[in-house]
Amino acid sequence: MTTQWLEVGEHGEVVVVMKAELKTYYDSLVAERARMKQMIDAEEGERYELSVSTDASDEADKSLLASLREFTITRVDVGRQTLRLIEEALERLNQGAYGSCLNCGEPISPKRLSAIPWARYCVNCQELKEKGLLEDPEEQPAPAV
Ligand SMILES: [Zn+2]
Repeated sequence: MTTQWLEVGEHGEVVVVMKAELKTYYDSLVAERARMKQMIDAEEGERYELSVSTDASDEADKSLLASLREFTITRVDVGRQTLRLIEEALERLNQGAYGSCLNCGEPISPKRLSAIPWARYCVNCQELKEKGLLEDPEEQPAPAV
């Protein structure tokens, strides 16, 4: 894990710095990432089982299986999407850019970050986004290495 700020101390030594509140967000992001991965694995296992049980005897069983499969796929998709947002947020933590709205650059409120540590936008911009008034930068610029 490399989520730390490296700063040069007063004697020229490299000091690892992580603010307590950032550590909290980092911890919940990592915990949530593990939870999401587990969920996706479990759901995918289930999807596999659903796809191999083709011996549904009547139409009702078949349609039940179909909707179960649909439901599982949706959950996996949402999980994957969230996972991607979590990875992005961890990346921002690494770059020291965590907690700023990706649209307007204003700080995202701690209350919002506690609820959704992978939030990309402040409340205002999130509202715009939900109204379809904000272009979602799906493609993040590659981090400068
Ligand atoms: Zn904003």
